[in-house]
Amino acid sequence: MASLLWLDNDLRIHDHEALRAALADPGPVLPMFLWAPETLGDWAPGGASRWWLHHSLQALQARLADRGASLHLAQGDPGQRLRELAEAVDADTVHWTRRLGPERARRDERAREVLAEASLDVHVHDGRILHDPAEVETTSGGPYRVFTPFWDRFQAEVHVPRPQPAPEAIATPSSVPEGCELVDLDLLPTPDWAHGLRETWRPGEAGAHQRLATVVDDRLDAYLEARDRPDVEGTSRLSPHLAWGEISPRTVWWRVKDAILDGAVDPEAARGFLRQVGWREFGYHLIHHFPQTPTEPLREKYENLPWRRAPDELERWRRGRTGFPLVDAGLRQLWHEGWIHNRVRMVVGAFLAKHLLLPWQEGAEWFWDTLVDADLANNTLGWQWAAGCGADAQPFFRMFNPMTQGEDHDPDGAYVRRWVPELADLPDEYLNRPWEAPPEVLAQADVELGEDYPEPIVDHGEARARAQSAYDRIG
Ligand SMILES: Cc1cc2nc3c(=O)[nH]c(=O)nc-3n(C[C@H](O)[C@H](O)[C@H](O)COP(=O)(O)OP(=O)(O)OC[C@H]3O[C@@H](n4cnc5c(N)ncnc54)[C@H](O)[C@@H]3O)c2cc1C
Repeated sequence: MASLLWLDNDLRIHDHEALRAALADPGPVLPMFLWAPETLGDWAPGGASRWWLHHSLQALQARLADRGASLHLAQGDPGQRLRELAEAVDADTVHWTRRLGPERARRDERAREVLAEASLDVHVHDGRILHDPAEVETTSGGPYRVFTPFWDRFQAEVHVPRPQPAPEAIATPSSVPEGCELVDLDLLPTPDWAHGLRETWRPGEAGAHQRLATVVDDRLDAYLEARDRPDVEGTSRLSPHLAWGEISPRTVWWRVKDAILDGAVDPEAARGFLRQVGWREFGYHLIHHFPQTPTEPLREKYENLPWRRAPDELERWRRGRTGFPLVDAGLRQLWHEGWIHNRVRMVVGAFLAKHLLLPWQEGAEWFWDTLVDADLANNTLGWQWAAGCGADAQPFFRMFNPMTQGEDHDPDGAYVRRWVPELADLPDEYLNRPWEAPPEVLAQADVELGEDYPEPIVDHGEARARAQSAYDRIG
């Protein structure tokens, strides 16, 4: 008898429990990927994620081919397809990785029911995250809502197993029905807007491992000083690789832990990095316990905040035309690279929710479509934090000042000048507040406000007062 391995957002062969379990079964193994975006509702992969997925699947095909296997591609209802394929290759068992998150959990549960009706054995394995959200509990029982105690308990109690090597060979069934071709999944954009993504990223498992090695060898020591600086390559940029499961969190964890044990890195900086990986765990912890939070605030009273509807302002925000240089730089980086630095994600997110009082869900949807690392747990955590309605969030009336954020975290203005080149010749003093520049300074920098670069979409002081009074109505 054969086994099926249903791959989804675990597109790797290294440290893959479901693959190892399938290989431990007596017969051959058929790895497969099913494209069924309609089964994920509003959270089917967005445009940038689809681009990533195409290239990640291509990379996985090559990895499997090196081991004598091919990746079967199919479209349609997962339960039905798995059932048909199991029949065709004479499989009695299906393995997959526990996906977590409400959209995939619902889909997988439906598939499991269909497979149970056909008397197929289903085995679901760990590997997406490091902890079991049902097992890490507060001292009084129940889920955590605050990061630091969660992280303390995690570190005290969670045992992270060492990663397992990739198999050297994978025997697949001798006769497999024809699947579809990668191009048939139609994942690449038309017209082609992905040149910025191509310039920036190397999707796939090999790219993920190479990035991890670079981080540990070159970036970890400076991580604590550099992680808040969007103008330098101070963070790992591992997020899309983790989102698509091209590298396991265990692999990241142990590569860093070993570097600490070997004395190869500054332990404090390395632990600071692992703490960020801990935020990913926390995001999954929350979405597991509060599956409504991709669209509903964790703190319910925020539903009643007088959110505004202003499609023109939303569009200016999306296009990076708000007139606040750091905000615009971030949103333009997102459009070009499919990624934004974390500090700037916080600034643009809070700007949408607090300065503009636009529903945070609209920002989350835009990120979902444009991020290569779109991950429902992390995106939900980040947006609820930015809007003040989530776990560990700052109160709503505490607002980032986008001007001083730019001055503090991009001190030479290199980040803003890169992404907002029309302001490149402004002196540092006015770079983050061009509306304060005297006319002769603007003229010298060749900037006409309202023409070359927008006037601010809102006055910072008025926005602050508006946010405060909105909050007073629900506080
Ligand atoms: C509004 C908003 C939306 C976000 N949406 C996403 C998203 O869709 N997908 C996503 O992966 N992250 C998201 N984040 C979290 C964070 O910004 C990114 O994980 C981080 O910027 C990725 O860059 P990196 O890999 O260089 O991070 P590093 O600093 O190198 O951190 C290493 C890894 O730790 C995890 N991590 C780091 N910071 C966070 C964090 N604050 N929350 C959760 N996990 C974290 C990521 O997996 C990251 O790859 C969002 C944050 C905000 C404020």
